[in-house]
Amino acid sequence: MNFEQFNLDSRLMHGIKNAGYEAATPIQEAAIPAAMRGRDVIGTAQTGTGKTAAFILPILNKLINGPRGMPRALIVTPTRELAEQIHQVAKMLSVGTKIRSTTIYGGVTASRQIKALKDGVEILVACPGRLLDLVNQRHAKLDRIEVLVLDEADRMFDMGFLPDVRRIIKAVPAKRQTMLFSATFPAEVEQLAAQSLVEPQKIAMGISKPAHTVTHALYPVPQHLKSGLLLKILKQTDTNSVLIFTRTKHRADKIARQIAHAGHKVTSLHSNRSQGQRQNALNGFKSGHFHIMVATDIAARGLDIESISHVINFDMPDTADAYIHRIGRTGRAQRTGDAFTLVTPDDDDMIRKLERIMKEPIKKITLEDFDYSPPAPPRSAHDRGRGARPPRPAPTPKRFGKNRLAPRRK
Ligand code: AMP
Repeated sequence: MNFEQFNLDSRLMHGIKNAGYEAATPIQEAAIPAAMRGRDVIGTAQTGTGKTAAFILPILNKLINGPRGMPRALIVTPTRELAEQIHQVAKMLSVGTKIRSTTIYGGVTASRQIKALKDGVEILVACPGRLLDLVNQRHAKLDRIEVLVLDEADRMFDMGFLPDVRRIIKAVPAKRQTMLFSATFPAEVEQLAAQSLVEPQKIAMGISKPAHTVTHALYPVPQHLKSGLLLKILKQTDTNSVLIFTRTKHRADKIARQIAHAGHKVTSLHSNRSQGQRQNALNGFKSGHFHIMVATDIAARGLDIESISHVINFDMPDTADAYIHRIGRTGRAQRTGDAFTLVTPDDDDMIRKLERIMKEPIKKITLEDFDYSPPAPPRSAHDRGRGARPPRPAPTPKRFGKNRLAPRRK
């Protein structure tokens, strides 16, 4: 289906051309007409499906007519990186419409955000905490919001943002259009949807199956040899850009140091780094300055980084969903990619789960010229707390839950 068939305002065609989109993706085909009719929408979409344009285009189509200079659409999203990414899509697609968008999130000074609000803006792309601060300080007014998008609702739940999201919903007019996107639907997200949407159209894009453009492989290895094997894989494999996931921030930093020591250009992304450092890491990785980025799951969700050739799970994630989101960073938009996971015997259950979802065994690779035999060094009391898999986090979400994957309720 091409974009002319949606009957979008002709002024939007410029932005669509600007973005280089030719045919609509399946979620766009399903969501755009429903949203243009004014329906509430619940979308279950795999990342990399074109979800962002699926809600931005109907928003622009609505805002292109009517008053300017006040926020009329609000997109609430869990992370700063996602907010920036959505804002960039809004900017790209709104070329020629004079519709303005701004981001609102913490970790940076509020003055630029307050100025953008003062200057007049129609679309807000916001993380919950800072948005509420600016609403309470009366810098942001939500009384003219016509469209509310709750993006990555399950992630917002994981990060403990749902109470803030409920406050935001109370601050926007009851008469509005609401779109909610979520990869999974734990009970809390179901409840939020039931309370905040009216007769929503449900659009499911077959979540929980990784993109078919990704090749998966497992690398069995004892825990204490993981770093050595990783360096070997990096040395032997023809990689373009590599995103490596670790379970903890501490380990992300440690692995990044080891990789740098081996002569690679590497950066790291996790929530102990300042917003400036996070942005520099991401920009440097996107531009190709850094060939490798080591990240915790904060980077796993929704980030649109083009042409990642390899995702390497240094540690197996806690859930199949987290695996799918992590490896969703490669193989995007029909490109191909490889997903490698270093596995220890502790990971057998998760491997079985993944194989059930993929409906086929995942190949296991042993490197011939890697020495798997060295025994584990005796561990000091200090190390013992670090090497082992940390206990799963308690289900109570923290307000600014530092990027932990809380167990999901199915
Ligand atoms: P998203 O799922 O919104 O993160 O989008 C994933 C990627 O697909 C982004 O790089 C988009 O620019 C791209 N994209 C979205 N819609 C289209 C389309 N209709 N044709 C080609 N690429 C698209």
